[in-house]
Amino acid sequence: MEGQCRKCLLRDAFPEDYEKYVGSLLIKIPSGARAPEGIYQQRLSICRACDQLNNGTCMGCGCLVELKAAYKNEKCPFRRW
Ligand code: SF4
Repeated sequence: MEGQCRKCLLRDAFPEDYEKYVGSLLIKIPSGARAPEGIYQQRLSICRACDQLNNGTCMGCGCLVELKAAYKNEKCPFRRW
């Protein structure tokens, strides 16, 4: 990946990588493990404003936030969501 964006999710910065690394895995999460859509979007909004976000990756835990936030039992490493 080239360049850096401190405010971008992977889908914004690198749409092809998003499909490859996130989109294809999101659909495999069992419905019982998924965070409700409203919660998911709220989490991503918080991540977008976070100083730990770098090209869609959380520098606090190393996870792709669009995938991590989709799991209802996951938590932000800094307790921001
Ligand atoms: S998971 Fe938490 S620390 Fe990581 S980018 Fe999102 S809000 Fe920031």
